Amino acid sequence: MRVAIVGAGMAGLSCADRLKRAGHMVSLFDKGHRPGGRMSTKRLNTPLGETHVDHGAQYFTVRDPAFMAQVARWSACGVAAPWPAAGTGAWVGVPGMSAVVRDLADHHDVTFGWCVRGLVRRDGLWYLSGENADGERADAGPFDTVVVSLPPEQAAAIVALHDLSLASTALAARSQPCWTGMFVFDAKLPTGRDTVRDAGSISWAARDSAKPGRKGPETWVVQANPNWSSAHIEETSDMVAAELLSALSGALSIKMPEPVTAIAHRWRYAMSTGSNLGALWSPQSQIGICGDWLLGPRVENAWLSGKTLASQIMATVEQAAA
Ligand SMILES: Cc1cc2nc3c(=O)[nH]c(=O)nc-3n(C[C@H](O)[C@H](O)[C@H](O)COP(=O)(O)OP(=O)(O)OC[C@H]3O[C@@H](n4cnc5c(N)ncnc54)[C@H](O)[C@@H]3O)c2cc1C
Repeated sequence: MRVAIVGAGMAGLSCADRLKRAGHMVSLFDKGHRPGGRMSTKRLNTPLGETHVDHGAQYFTVRDPAFMAQVARWSACGVAAPWPAAGTGAWVGVPGMSAVVRDLADHHDVTFGWCVRGLVRRDGLWYLSGENADGERADAGPFDTVVVSLPPEQAAAIVALHDLSLASTALAARSQPCWTGMFVFDAKLPTGRDTVRDAGSISWAARDSAKPGRKGPETWVVQANPNWSSAHIEETSDMVAAELLSALSGALSIKMPEPVTAIAHRWRYAMSTGSNLGALWSPQSQIGICGDWLLGPRVENAWLSGKTLASQIMATVEQAAA
Protein backbone atom coordinates (compact mmCIF):
# COMPACT_ATOMS: atom_id res chain seq x y z
CA MET A 1 0.00 0.00 0.00
CA ARG A 2 1.02 3.59 -0.59
CA VAL A 3 0.22 5.47 2.62
CA ALA A 4 0.35 9.24 3.13
CA ILE A 5 0.66 10.45 6.72
CA VAL A 6 -0.31 14.04 7.45
CA GLY A 7 1.68 15.15 10.50
CA ALA A 8 5.10 13.77 11.42
CA GLY A 9 4.90 14.16 15.19
CA MET A 10 5.32 11.25 17.59
CA ALA A 11 2.03 9.59 16.60
CA GLY A 12 2.48 9.87 12.83
CA LEU A 13 6.04 8.56 12.97
CA SER A 14 5.13 5.70 15.27
CA CYS A 15 2.40 4.66 12.83
CA ALA A 16 4.86 5.01 9.93
CA ASP A 17 7.37 2.74 11.69
CA ARG A 18 4.97 -0.17 11.97
CA LEU A 19 3.54 0.23 8.47
CA LYS A 20 6.99 0.45 6.90
CA ARG A 21 8.16 -2.64 8.77
CA ALA A 22 5.17 -4.48 7.29
CA GLY A 23 6.36 -3.53 3.80
CA HIS A 24 4.10 -0.59 3.00
CA MET A 25 5.36 2.56 1.26
CA VAL A 26 4.91 5.47 3.64
CA SER A 27 5.33 9.18 2.88
CA LEU A 28 4.95 11.77 5.64
CA PHE A 29 4.15 15.48 5.26
CA ASP A 30 4.63 18.02 8.04
CA LYS A 31 4.09 21.75 7.97
CA GLY A 32 6.91 22.26 10.49
CA HIS A 33 10.37 22.92 9.14
CA ARG A 34 12.06 20.55 11.59
CA PRO A 35 11.04 17.37 13.43
CA GLY A 36 9.26 17.67 16.77
CA GLY A 37 5.63 18.74 16.56
CA ARG A 38 4.55 19.36 20.14
CA MET A 39 7.90 17.87 21.23
CA SER A 40 9.82 20.67 19.52
CA THR A 41 13.06 22.18 20.67
CA LYS A 42 13.22 25.86 19.76
CA ARG A 43 16.40 27.49 18.48
CA LEU A 44 16.91 30.91 20.09
CA ASN A 45 19.36 33.52 18.84
CA THR A 46 20.45 35.35 21.99
CA PRO A 47 23.18 37.90 22.76
CA LEU A 48 25.01 34.92 24.34
CA GLY A 49 24.85 32.96 21.08
CA GLU A 50 22.47 30.31 19.77
CA THR A 51 20.77 28.21 22.40
CA HIS A 52 18.02 25.60 22.39
CA VAL A 53 15.01 25.18 24.60
CA ASP A 54 12.20 22.60 24.87
CA HIS A 55 9.05 24.64 24.56
CA GLY A 56 6.50 21.85 24.13
CA ALA A 57 6.57 18.58 26.05
CA GLN A 58 8.93 18.88 29.01
CA TYR A 59 9.52 15.23 29.83
CA PHE A 60 7.78 11.93 29.26
CA THR A 61 7.00 8.92 31.35
CA VAL A 62 6.79 5.25 30.42
CA ARG A 63 4.21 2.63 31.41
CA ASP A 64 3.63 0.40 28.39
CA PRO A 65 6.21 -2.40 27.86
CA ALA A 66 6.46 -1.76 24.10
CA PHE A 67 7.09 1.95 24.64
CA MET A 68 9.59 1.00 27.35
CA ALA A 69 11.51 -1.01 24.74
CA GLN A 70 11.47 2.00 22.40
CA VAL A 71 12.77 4.29 25.14
CA ALA A 72 15.50 1.76 25.96
CA ARG A 73 16.59 1.92 22.29
CA TRP A 74 16.64 5.75 22.40
CA SER A 75 18.62 5.60 25.63
CA ALA A 76 21.12 3.14 24.13
CA CYS A 77 21.79 5.43 21.17
CA GLY A 78 22.06 8.52 23.39
CA VAL A 79 18.98 10.45 22.26
CA ALA A 80 17.06 10.05 25.55
CA ALA A 81 18.07 10.12 29.19
CA PRO A 82 16.32 10.08 32.58
CA TRP A 83 15.77 13.46 34.22
CA PRO A 84 15.15 12.76 37.92
CA ALA A 85 14.47 16.44 38.68
CA ALA A 86 11.04 15.96 37.06
CA GLY A 87 10.33 12.86 39.12
CA THR A 88 11.13 9.17 39.16
CA GLY A 89 10.67 7.68 35.70
CA ALA A 90 10.85 11.01 33.83
CA TRP A 91 12.75 10.97 30.51
CA VAL A 92 13.85 13.73 28.14
CA GLY A 93 15.29 13.84 24.64
CA VAL A 94 19.04 14.61 24.37
CA PRO A 95 20.38 17.15 23.50
CA GLY A 96 16.80 18.45 23.16
CA MET A 97 13.33 16.92 23.35
CA SER A 98 13.01 16.89 19.56
CA ALA A 99 15.93 14.42 19.33
CA VAL A 100 13.67 11.41 19.83
CA VAL A 101 11.27 12.54 17.09
CA ARG A 102 14.23 13.26 14.81
CA ASP A 103 15.53 9.76 15.49
CA LEU A 104 12.24 8.30 14.20
CA ALA A 105 12.01 10.76 11.29
CA ASP A 106 15.51 9.83 10.09
CA HIS A 107 14.18 6.41 9.08
CA HIS A 108 11.34 7.75 6.95
CA ASP A 109 10.51 9.74 3.86
CA VAL A 110 9.33 12.98 5.51
CA THR A 111 8.69 16.22 3.62
CA PHE A 112 8.96 19.10 6.07
CA GLY A 113 7.53 22.56 5.39
CA TRP A 114 4.59 21.00 3.49
CA CYS A 115 1.23 22.16 4.85
CA VAL A 116 -1.70 19.92 3.90
CA ARG A 117 -4.89 21.91 3.25
CA GLY A 118 -7.16 19.15 1.99
CA LEU A 119 -7.62 15.66 0.59
CA VAL A 120 -8.79 14.94 -2.94
CA ARG A 121 -10.38 11.63 -4.02
CA ARG A 122 -9.85 10.72 -7.69
CA ASP A 123 -10.43 7.31 -9.34
CA GLY A 124 -10.52 5.59 -5.95
CA LEU A 125 -7.17 7.02 -4.85
CA TRP A 126 -6.11 9.79 -2.48
CA TYR A 127 -4.17 12.95 -3.26
CA LEU A 128 -3.02 15.64 -0.85
CA SER A 129 -3.30 19.31 -1.72
CA GLY A 130 -1.47 22.04 0.13
CA GLU A 131 1.55 24.33 0.07
CA ASN A 132 5.20 23.41 -0.13
CA ALA A 133 8.08 24.99 1.79
CA ASP A 134 8.21 27.89 -0.72
CA GLY A 135 4.53 28.67 -0.09
CA GLU A 136 3.55 27.43 -3.55
CA ARG A 137 0.46 25.31 -4.19
CA ALA A 138 1.41 21.66 -4.36
CA ASP A 139 -0.17 18.24 -4.76
CA ALA A 140 1.08 14.81 -3.74
CA GLY A 141 -0.17 11.33 -4.59
CA PRO A 142 -1.63 8.98 -5.48
CA PHE A 143 -2.01 7.08 -2.20
CA ASP A 144 -4.22 4.12 -1.27
CA THR A 145 -4.65 5.23 2.33
CA VAL A 146 -4.34 8.48 4.25
CA VAL A 147 -3.44 8.78 7.93
CA VAL A 148 -4.20 12.10 9.62
CA SER A 149 -2.07 12.57 12.72
CA LEU A 150 -3.00 16.02 14.01
CA PRO A 151 -4.72 17.56 17.06
CA PRO A 152 -8.50 16.94 16.85
CA GLU A 153 -9.56 20.40 15.64
CA GLN A 154 -7.05 20.24 12.78
CA ALA A 155 -7.84 16.60 11.96
CA ALA A 156 -11.58 17.36 11.72
CA ALA A 157 -10.96 20.17 9.22
CA ILE A 158 -8.91 17.89 6.95
CA VAL A 159 -11.28 14.89 6.88
CA ALA A 160 -14.70 16.62 7.11
CA LEU A 161 -15.44 16.64 3.36
CA HIS A 162 -14.77 12.93 3.01
CA ASP A 163 -15.74 11.19 6.24
CA LEU A 164 -18.32 12.89 8.44
CA SER A 165 -18.23 10.15 11.05
CA LEU A 166 -14.49 10.55 11.65
CA ALA A 167 -14.84 14.34 11.60
CA SER A 168 -17.62 14.36 14.17
CA THR A 169 -15.61 12.18 16.56
CA ALA A 170 -12.70 14.60 16.23
CA LEU A 171 -15.01 17.59 16.71
CA ALA A 172 -16.22 16.14 20.00
CA ALA A 173 -12.67 16.42 21.41
CA ARG A 174 -11.27 19.73 22.61
CA SER A 175 -7.70 20.99 23.03
CA GLN A 176 -6.62 23.51 25.62
CA PRO A 177 -4.03 26.18 24.87
CA CYS A 178 -0.71 26.71 26.62
CA TRP A 179 1.34 29.91 26.65
CA THR A 180 5.02 29.05 27.10
CA GLY A 181 7.64 31.60 28.16
CA MET A 182 11.33 31.05 27.37
CA PHE A 183 13.97 33.04 29.27
CA VAL A 184 17.74 33.12 28.88
CA PHE A 185 19.98 34.65 31.58
CA ASP A 186 23.66 35.51 31.68
CA ALA A 187 24.03 33.96 35.15
CA LYS A 188 22.46 31.16 37.16
CA LEU A 189 19.24 32.15 38.94
CA PRO A 190 19.75 32.22 42.72
CA THR A 191 17.65 29.17 43.52
CA GLY A 192 18.40 25.54 44.21
CA ARG A 193 15.15 24.49 42.56
CA ASP A 194 15.10 23.16 39.01
CA THR A 195 11.31 22.79 38.68
CA VAL A 196 8.07 24.45 39.78
CA ARG A 197 4.60 22.87 39.56
CA ASP A 198 1.18 24.48 39.95
CA ALA A 199 2.00 27.90 41.35
CA GLY A 200 -0.60 30.56 40.50
CA SER A 201 -0.75 30.99 36.73
CA ILE A 202 2.11 28.53 36.26
CA SER A 203 1.41 24.86 35.63
CA TRP A 204 5.09 24.00 35.12
CA ALA A 205 8.42 25.81 35.07
CA ALA A 206 11.89 24.34 34.76
CA ARG A 207 15.53 25.19 34.43
CA ASP A 208 15.77 23.79 30.89
CA SER A 209 19.57 24.11 30.91
CA ALA A 210 19.69 21.62 33.83
CA LYS A 211 18.33 18.78 31.69
CA PRO A 212 20.86 16.11 30.70
CA GLY A 213 23.10 16.87 27.73
CA ARG A 214 22.23 20.60 27.52
CA LYS A 215 24.94 23.09 26.69
CA GLY A 216 24.68 26.85 26.81
CA PRO A 217 23.48 29.54 29.17
CA GLU A 218 20.97 29.45 32.02
CA THR A 219 17.56 28.89 30.40
CA TRP A 220 14.10 28.62 31.96
CA VAL A 221 10.78 27.51 30.49
CA VAL A 222 7.54 28.65 32.10
CA GLN A 223 4.21 27.11 31.03
CA ALA A 224 0.96 28.79 32.01
CA ASN A 225 -1.98 26.70 33.12
CA PRO A 226 -4.94 26.17 30.70
CA ASN A 227 -7.21 28.73 32.43
CA TRP A 228 -4.62 31.48 32.35
CA SER A 229 -3.62 30.59 28.78
CA SER A 230 -7.25 30.69 27.60
CA ALA A 231 -7.91 34.00 29.34
CA HIS A 232 -4.81 35.56 27.70
CA ILE A 233 -4.96 33.74 24.38
CA GLU A 234 -4.98 36.88 22.20
CA GLU A 235 -2.36 38.83 24.20
CA THR A 236 0.95 39.72 22.60
CA SER A 237 3.97 37.50 23.09
CA ASP A 238 5.85 40.37 24.81
CA MET A 239 3.10 40.94 27.35
CA VAL A 240 2.78 37.23 28.11
CA ALA A 241 6.55 36.85 28.50
CA ALA A 242 6.60 39.72 31.02
CA GLU A 243 3.68 38.21 32.99
CA LEU A 244 5.21 34.74 33.08
CA LEU A 245 8.60 36.07 34.15
CA SER A 246 6.95 37.93 37.02
CA ALA A 247 5.02 34.75 37.96
CA LEU A 248 8.29 32.79 38.00
CA SER A 249 9.89 35.40 40.25
CA GLY A 250 6.98 35.00 42.68
CA ALA A 251 7.02 31.21 42.55
CA LEU A 252 10.77 31.04 43.24
CA SER A 253 10.62 33.94 45.76
CA ILE A 254 13.61 35.63 44.16
CA LYS A 255 14.28 39.06 42.73
CA MET A 256 14.37 38.27 39.04
CA PRO A 257 17.40 39.50 37.07
CA GLU A 258 16.76 40.91 33.57
CA PRO A 259 16.86 38.05 31.02
CA VAL A 260 19.00 38.55 27.91
CA THR A 261 16.21 36.96 25.89
CA ALA A 262 12.52 36.65 26.77
CA ILE A 263 9.91 35.32 24.37
CA ALA A 264 6.60 33.49 24.57
CA HIS A 265 5.06 30.90 22.28
CA ARG A 266 1.32 30.24 22.05
CA TRP A 267 0.30 26.61 21.63
CA ARG A 268 -3.35 26.82 20.57
CA TYR A 269 -3.83 23.06 20.64
CA ALA A 270 -1.52 21.98 23.44
CA MET A 271 -3.36 19.42 25.52
CA SER A 272 -6.51 17.68 24.40
CA THR A 273 -9.19 15.90 26.35
CA GLY A 274 -8.30 12.23 26.19
CA SER A 275 -10.51 9.33 25.10
CA ASN A 276 -9.98 5.60 25.12
CA LEU A 277 -10.55 5.12 21.41
CA GLY A 278 -6.87 4.50 20.67
CA ALA A 279 -7.20 5.39 16.98
CA LEU A 280 -9.89 5.90 14.33
CA TRP A 281 -9.94 3.84 11.14
CA SER A 282 -12.46 3.68 8.32
CA PRO A 283 -11.83 0.83 5.85
CA GLN A 284 -14.57 2.32 3.65
CA SER A 285 -12.96 5.73 3.18
CA GLN A 286 -9.40 4.40 3.75
CA ILE A 287 -8.77 7.26 6.18
CA GLY A 288 -7.25 6.73 9.62
CA ILE A 289 -6.65 9.16 12.46
CA CYS A 290 -4.12 8.84 15.25
CA GLY A 291 -2.74 11.24 17.85
CA ASP A 292 -2.33 11.66 21.59
CA TRP A 293 -5.93 12.88 21.96
CA LEU A 294 -7.26 9.40 21.21
CA LEU A 295 -5.74 8.18 24.49
CA GLY A 296 -4.67 11.24 26.50
CA PRO A 297 -2.27 14.17 26.20
CA ARG A 298 1.04 12.40 26.77
CA VAL A 299 3.98 11.51 24.56
CA GLU A 300 3.60 7.81 25.31
CA ASN A 301 -0.06 7.92 24.25
CA ALA A 302 0.84 9.55 20.93
CA TRP A 303 3.30 6.71 20.28
CA LEU A 304 0.73 4.07 21.27
CA SER A 305 -2.02 5.63 19.17
CA GLY A 306 0.21 5.50 16.08
CA LYS A 307 0.90 1.80 16.67
CA THR A 308 -2.80 1.07 17.28
CA LEU A 309 -3.81 2.67 13.98
CA ALA A 310 -1.11 0.81 12.05
CA SER A 311 -2.39 -2.50 13.49
CA GLN A 312 -5.96 -1.64 12.50
CA ILE A 313 -4.92 -0.77 8.95
CA MET A 314 -2.86 -3.94 8.63
CA ALA A 315 -5.74 -6.08 9.93
CA THR A 316 -7.92 -4.73 7.08
CA VAL A 317 -5.22 -5.51 4.52
CA GLU A 318 -4.85 -9.05 5.87
CA GLN A 319 -8.62 -9.59 5.83
CA ALA A 320 -8.81 -8.43 2.21
CA ALA A 321 -5.98 -10.78 1.26
CA ALA A 322 -7.53 -13.82 3.02
C1 LIG B 1 3.21 22.97 26.02
C2 LIG B 1 3.10 21.48 26.04
C3 LIG B 1 3.59 20.75 27.12
C4 LIG B 1 3.51 19.36 27.14
N1 LIG B 1 4.06 18.66 28.16
C5 LIG B 1 4.06 17.31 28.13
C6 LIG B 1 4.77 16.57 29.12
O1 LIG B 1 5.42 17.14 29.99
N2 LIG B 1 4.72 15.21 29.06
C7 LIG B 1 4.06 14.54 28.05
O2 LIG B 1 4.08 13.31 28.02
N3 LIG B 1 3.41 15.23 27.08
C8 LIG B 1 3.41 16.59 27.10
N4 LIG B 1 2.79 17.29 26.11
C9 LIG B 1 2.00 16.54 25.11
C10 LIG B 1 2.89 15.93 24.02
O3 LIG B 1 3.70 16.93 23.46
C11 LIG B 1 1.97 15.33 22.98
O4 LIG B 1 1.20 14.32 23.61
C12 LIG B 1 2.65 14.70 21.76
O5 LIG B 1 3.78 15.41 21.34
C13 LIG B 1 1.61 14.62 20.66
O6 LIG B 1 2.15 14.03 19.50
P1 LIG B 1 1.23 13.92 18.20
O7 LIG B 1 2.04 13.26 17.17
O8 LIG B 1 -0.07 13.31 18.59
O9 LIG B 1 0.91 15.44 17.82
P2 LIG B 1 1.88 16.60 17.32
O10 LIG B 1 3.19 16.53 18.00
O11 LIG B 1 1.09 17.87 17.47
O12 LIG B 1 2.12 16.28 15.79
C14 LIG B 1 1.30 16.81 14.77
C15 LIG B 1 2.20 17.26 13.64
O13 LIG B 1 1.38 17.69 12.56
C16 LIG B 1 1.96 18.83 11.97
N5 LIG B 1 0.87 19.54 11.29
C17 LIG B 1 -0.14 20.26 11.84
N6 LIG B 1 -0.98 20.71 10.89
C18 LIG B 1 -0.50 20.25 9.70
C19 LIG B 1 -0.92 20.38 8.35
N7 LIG B 1 -2.04 21.03 8.00
N8 LIG B 1 -0.16 19.80 7.38
C20 LIG B 1 0.97 19.12 7.69
N9 LIG B 1 1.41 18.97 8.97
C21 LIG B 1 0.69 19.52 9.95
C22 LIG B 1 2.61 19.58 13.10
O14 LIG B 1 3.67 20.39 12.62
C23 LIG B 1 3.11 18.43 13.99
O15 LIG B 1 4.45 18.09 13.72
C24 LIG B 1 2.88 18.68 26.05
C25 LIG B 1 2.42 19.41 24.96
C26 LIG B 1 2.53 20.79 24.94
C27 LIG B 1 2.07 21.56 23.73
